[in-house]
Amino acid sequence: MTTSTPDEVPVEIVHWVDGSPLTGSPTGWADVTNPATGRVTGRVALASEADAAHVIAAASRAARTWGTTSLARRTQVLFSFRELLNARKDELAAIITAEHGKVHSDAMGEIARGLEVVEFACGISHLLKGGHSEEASTGVDVHSKRVPLGVVGIISPFNFPAMVPMWFFPIAIAAGNAVVLKPSEKDPSAASWIAALWQEAGLPDGVFNVLHGDKTAVDALLTSPDVQAISFVGSTPIAEYVYETASRHGKRVQALGGAKNHMVVLPDADLDLAADSAVNAGYGSAGERCMAISVLVAVDPIGDELVARIADRTRTLLIGDGGREATGEQKEADMGPLVTRAHRDRVSSFIDSGEAAGAKVVVDGRDVAARGGEEGFWLGPTLFDDVTPDMDVYREEIFGPVLSVVRARSYEDAVALVNANEYGNGTAVFTNDGGAARRFEADVTVGMIGVNVPVPVPVAYYSFGGWKRSLFGDTHAHGTEGVHFFTRGKVVTTRWIDPANRPEGGLELGFPRND
Ligand code: NAD
Repeated sequence: MTTSTPDEVPVEIVHWVDGSPLTGSPTGWADVTNPATGRVTGRVALASEADAAHVIAAASRAARTWGTTSLARRTQVLFSFRELLNARKDELAAIITAEHGKVHSDAMGEIARGLEVVEFACGISHLLKGGHSEEASTGVDVHSKRVPLGVVGIISPFNFPAMVPMWFFPIAIAAGNAVVLKPSEKDPSAASWIAALWQEAGLPDGVFNVLHGDKTAVDALLTSPDVQAISFVGSTPIAEYVYETASRHGKRVQALGGAKNHMVVLPDADLDLAADSAVNAGYGSAGERCMAISVLVAVDPIGDELVARIADRTRTLLIGDGGREATGEQKEADMGPLVTRAHRDRVSSFIDSGEAAGAKVVVDGRDVAARGGEEGFWLGPTLFDDVTPDMDVYREEIFGPVLSVVRARSYEDAVALVNANEYGNGTAVFTNDGGAARRFEADVTVGMIGVNVPVPVPVAYYSFGGWKRSLFGDTHAHGTEGVHFFTRGKVVTTRWIDPANRPEGGLELGFPRND
């Protein structure tokens, strides 16, 4: 995958269907920018309804043969994909940095977490084993199995262009489904690169397809009778829309939405660990993570000391082009730009609104000196203190490098704040008191919890997902819940006639009893 240099025409990013690129008949083209320079580096095709129908039809054809391909053959392809991705992950990381803006080490981290799911899916044979009960009733055996669904649609957000699709497609494919991935139009090239890698790994054409586009492409997936399931990740309003629309069209849906993750720091916590963690989880990936810490709840009396330690650390962060490697004199940037100019401006306006509402600006990211292009979408890390729950900066998901400190008088006040929030994606508690941590774990109405861990993203063999308005549907991503989501159960009740022990037969119209 190449991106253009200053004088070059932006590259065209097109769909991938049946093992080949396809331009189709786009409704338009969307600009793709390098956030560190502000330059347009690509134009992505926005699929028409006809393009979507074409891609879904190709996936339907492929699903029929892939779903009956042996488990041995399917897992061989998974293993090859894992090897290729591991060997070439630097290439993918460079693509992510060039379109998303996150620094190289962060892009490598996202790929590593995605690879974990690929590795999990390599063991699909074990996970698809059914049950068998001999002689469940006299002369009758029962067994269960899980079979693929057919075509599944994955719709992903801009903030993890590789990892979020990888939460789903390795398991979907290993389980025998064909995939249509609709990536974010803001950083679409990672998906196209991954499609070509699947082909190299030996995946039959049509099993993994990429449909680029906007609402037209999404709606086509949500309403097509040939798509059986939708895995969506993005903002809450769109997640809710996706959940309602796809459910109405008879599909199973998991729609993961936005977040406002609180980190509660109790008075006995290790304050250096808490300060490091708040900075890492607040500003890593410029705060554009669904598991970012955006609210820090400091329980009296440690607030002043903790804010001072966080501020000191925040002021040392280097903001810059994530594609520039460390040199002898300069380390790699800690934080890159925001994904688009519009998003940078939106986040910046939240800083204005927080200040106007009376929050104290301890570190002001609007005064940023970044190592990168003058037209880059820069915004420095911002630390607010004395934030209250009625302020916009508290209520809204900002999705940028803005950390809001709220003071709480007690553990109970802190937990009440966490539980009153409409989101329930992640939360963390920092304490050295095992009993308090255990109580926190029981008290909070949140799906993923960290104890002295600020970004508690579960490992691949557990499942990822929040509560409340952070998830629509009841199935979380990856782990055994992912295997369940991408398969359907069948239970078979069997009787074979044994000539030595023939059943009596005869007419009996009563409901069959087991005996
Ligand atoms: P987004 O909702 O704008 O877009 C997500 C996807 O939906 C994209 O593919 C986009 O093209 C599509 N889309 C956008 N508007 C649409 C519309 N009107 N109709 C149909 N489809 C539409 O989200 P984003 O800005 O790309 O990503 C950031 C959001 O994703 C944040 O809210 C973040 O919290 C959330 N997120 C959540 C998780 C999680 O696990 N819960 C993980 C990552 C990101």
